[in-house]
Amino acid sequence: MTIGESILSLLKDEISEVEYNRYIKQLSFSTEGSKTDYALFLAPNPLVASWVRTRYSEKIAHLFEVKTGVKPQVAVEIKSKHSVAEQKSESLPTPQHSTHQSLLNPAYTFDNYVVGSSNQFAFSAAQSICEKPGEAYNPLFIYGGVGLGKTHLMQAVGNRLQAQGKSVIYSSVEQFVNDFTRHLRNQTMDRFKDKYRKCDVLMIDDVQFLSGKNQTQEEFFHTFETLRNEKKQIILTSDKQPKQIAGLEDRLKSRFEWGLIVDIQPPELETKIAIINKKCEINRVKISKDIIDYIATIIDNNAREIEGILSKLHAYAKLMNQDITLEFTKNVLKEQLQEKRENITIDYIVKFVSKELNVKPSEIRSKSRSKNIVYARRVSIFLARSLTQNTMPQLAQYFGMKDHTTISHTMKKINELLKTDENFKVKIDELNNKITAGETL
Ligand code: ADP
Ligand code: MG
Repeated sequence: MTIGESILSLLKDEISEVEYNRYIKQLSFSTEGSKTDYALFLAPNPLVASWVRTRYSEKIAHLFEVKTGVKPQVAVEIKSKHSVAEQKSESLPTPQHSTHQSLLNPAYTFDNYVVGSSNQFAFSAAQSICEKPGEAYNPLFIYGGVGLGKTHLMQAVGNRLQAQGKSVIYSSVEQFVNDFTRHLRNQTMDRFKDKYRKCDVLMIDDVQFLSGKNQTQEEFFHTFETLRNEKKQIILTSDKQPKQIAGLEDRLKSRFEWGLIVDIQPPELETKIAIINKKCEINRVKISKDIIDYIATIIDNNAREIEGILSKLHAYAKLMNQDITLEFTKNVLKEQLQEKRENITIDYIVKFVSKELNVKPSEIRSKSRSKNIVYARRVSIFLARSLTQNTMPQLAQYFGMKDHTTISHTMKKINELLKTDENFKVKIDELNNKITAGETL
């Protein structure tokens, strides 16, 4: 089964059988037409195509994210446009050893990973894991900001060990939680344990999301203990160091520190350029050096945007029957930035902050003076002011404040805090990065 087909089969549990048979079953996955961040499905007719596009593409993208760590753009096209050969999408070879096969992204290999001083140490650690899994560093804990290559590096280990015949489980925290609650409800915990405790390598992505999930933490603790006692390799990623993950049990924090902790820093310009070159090579996009340099200076440190930009450039150039020139690139990037900005609304910011700081959106907009709510409100106002085009009166109205002078007073207070309170500044920077990186809620 291809990745795309496996993802579709997961929809069986989520939608009615009638809908599944009528629409989803009609789809095939185009291995050739898909890329890491672009999943192409083929439908037999326009009706199925448009139905799937409007009703299911978000769900499908989400399932990809949960299963593979990457949320692709999901496209549905009509089959006849593609060659007959492609209709029977060619299956990728699937490893035979495990009933719980993980959906690793085959493009996330060591070969495709660009090494620079920002990730050198993490890269070496990941490689040595492959030589002696379960022995050298256990667990390996990789942390760093959004889009810096944590998932890629972790799956590179997974791909290599899977190729050596090891059974590898890759799971997002969300997937782990879903599995756990489902098996608990169905009283099939033995199957849950089979999956997570009998593998050779367990990789859990973004463990900061375990925060506050006490029952899952309890279960994860036992999973961890079992595997580590049996010298099975555990790899974890997070956006911060174990001790900085709020709402995580102390015994987990300390265990996460037992092996090796490595960080990935934002790439320097040269590494960014090398990453873009690599992505061009993989996706067979040809662009000149000055354009690559230009893209590298424009994008944030987050490498996640690169593939999106490249496929956009490629598609537009084809559509307009034009070469990719610097001028052309500038226009496309301008549009991309514009789109990104439009997606950031006050509502989105408040929801994001409330999730990250564990308060309710309605509390942020209330008049409550309780300390953590005032804190969340300040953070939201600052981010809304700097990331959206809303005026002071508009912000005042949104946050239920008397008028714009109240907002400007709050802004003053926040600017003072940014100078004097290091923790506040770090938090603002972290949220700012996540929101501008387009992280989903
Ligand atoms: P994270 O998990 O840290 O948020 P990802 O691993 O999802 O980041 O990386 C985002 C994108 O950037 C992926 O397409 C990945 O292949 C690419 N990327 C990041 N760092 C590198 C690197 N050093 N070399 C090649 N590609 C990279
Ligand atoms: Mg990731």
